[in-house]
Amino acid sequence: MFDVIRIPAFKDNYIWLLRKGAAAAVVDPGDARPVLEVLDQYGLSLTTILVTHHHADHQGGVSRLLAHYPAEVFGPATESISGITRPLAGGETIRTAFCDVEFQVLAVPGHTLGHLAYYGADCLFCGDTLFAGGCGRLFEGSAAQMADSLARLAALPGETAVYCAHEYTEANLRFALAVEPGNRRLQSRVNEVAVARAKGWPTVPSTIAIEKASNPFLRSAEPEVAAAARRRVADAHDDVAVFAALRAWKDGF
Ligand code: ZN
Ligand code: FE
Repeated sequence: MFDVIRIPAFKDNYIWLLRKGAAAAVVDPGDARPVLEVLDQYGLSLTTILVTHHHADHQGGVSRLLAHYPAEVFGPATESISGITRPLAGGETIRTAFCDVEFQVLAVPGHTLGHLAYYGADCLFCGDTLFAGGCGRLFEGSAAQMADSLARLAALPGETAVYCAHEYTEANLRFALAVEPGNRRLQSRVNEVAVARAKGWPTVPSTIAIEKASNPFLRSAEPEVAAAARRRVADAHDDVAVFAALRAWKDGF
């Protein structure tokens, strides 16, 4: 196994640095500077970069990191990301120079069309697809694609730690509560997250079990969620239509 070190970046991004011995891997380095500082601080050598999608806040630091370390770079083959040495389509199981842990690569289109998630050692690095309490916006893919991507993430074991790329949880849960005010697990999560954020603490990682219990975007099949969606879009009759109605509602929330 490896340690996971949280590196805050920009306004609300998290860059995840994995550490095993003196080796490090980093997920979605949008900015090189804070990553280089942590590598120096712990005396680590960067062997591996994992990129989930092409947005600048997830890959903007890759070139500068490569100027310091000859790391291998995994990322979506179909997206324009400079420095990728190991292009992926999704469906692969990869071994990295970082450590023995194998990662499964999942194609999770929706936020972007080539978006990938990396799953290994009970950890899921899912970029901007699944968030704590929410999900990414549909910039490139369809609601059907995103709903399918989220359903496959929801099928991972409940104890899987969900390392998403942004601290959006508090706002996400405000929306979740508007959708599903009667959900007790959601109510207690709202309270826990409010306490944590008031102290400046992070709310990521969560787990797949927590998300399935309280994230409306994984709960389209729940009667209260579907009913709330149908108050916005009367003919939202299947899970994908419910998901689409929720996503559109959240966009303007
Ligand atoms: Zn993004
Ligand atoms: Fe992002």
